[in-house]
Amino acid sequence: MNALIDPFGRRIEYVRLSVTDRCDLRCDYCMPKGFRDFQEPDDWLRFDEIERVIGAFARLGVSRVRLTGGEPLVRRDLPELAARLARLPGVDDLSLSTNATRLNKHAQALREAGVSRLNVSLDTLRAERFKQITGGKLEKVLAGLMAAKAAGFAPVKINMVVMRGVNDDEVEDMVAFCLEHDFTLRFIETMPMGKTGRSASSRYLDLQTVRARLGERYELLPGVMPGGGPARYVQVAGTPLRIGFITPISQHFCETCNRVRLSVDGTLYMCLGQEERFELRPLLRAGASDAELEAAVREAITLKPERHEFREEPGKIVRFMSMTGG
Ligand code: SAM
Ligand code: SF4
Repeated sequence: MNALIDPFGRRIEYVRLSVTDRCDLRCDYCMPKGFRDFQEPDDWLRFDEIERVIGAFARLGVSRVRLTGGEPLVRRDLPELAARLARLPGVDDLSLSTNATRLNKHAQALREAGVSRLNVSLDTLRAERFKQITGGKLEKVLAGLMAAKAAGFAPVKINMVVMRGVNDDEVEDMVAFCLEHDFTLRFIETMPMGKTGRSASSRYLDLQTVRARLGERYELLPGVMPGGGPARYVQVAGTPLRIGFITPISQHFCETCNRVRLSVDGTLYMCLGQEERFELRPLLRAGASDAELEAAVREAITLKPERHEFREEPGKIVRFMSMTGG
């Protein structure tokens, strides 16, 4: 059996692939305003290198790949990379996380390339507030979302980071928006990644309170979502709307973690909230064979820690979420 099993018996079957650490937005919980310390383009894995690494993972039983970043659509020719990855034997679920600012232009090409599912970050439906949180224009994101719908992506999941005193008054509006457009909605707790994430964590809101609040207004039934990952879902009775709660802080889900993260420079991160990592770029550039690459991936997986310690050690992770793609 070729499967990748970590030291805690968890099967690794999902890679989140960061294709750039750059972004056209500056969400205040993610990337600092004047941030310039990006990876050098020479250090970025090229498409052929990414294809080799994902090919090795696929031979080891990884079937799901998510393109993320930074903003993945900032990477030139992303649909071409998507098509190459979708064709790899063993990869049967290719998805994308995006801020959607450029989705209007690329949705159709991504769909044709074989991207099957989309997650879009959207924390507010108010243009002024969107500008304050992200520095960008809400109208572009809304145009991107409509293009995704028109291109046939279903479900489209909306990811909303809920922050006390920032956007927690919009939870019900977001439910109405997702009902209207047939999107799936997921709420996310802030994580103390980097100084931006830590500063946002002062606006942390336990999502159990959001769930209780929605429970007063809607009848919430237990829900399931294929490929739902760590989110716990409810369904709004009498509607198709599913709402997921991603609660890394109030109820962590490390015991079912099935993923690792590959950053744009070829560093494999074993956990969002820990430092364990393994450098694959030197191997790739030294001409490692496929067998050597697979052996390296196996070795890397032995480093996977049991769980994050965002609560116990909120100051531990200095890298921003944009480096590893969330
Ligand atoms: N740019 C794309 C996007 O925004 O969807 C993909 C990368 S982004 C880093 C992935 C996810 O991480 C987004 O849903 C974003 O809201 C989330 N994120 C970033 N920083 C976070 C933090 N400190 N706490 C919780 N979620 C965070
Ligand atoms: Fe960019 Fe996504 Fe981070 Fe926002 S959350 S700054 S869109 S990478």
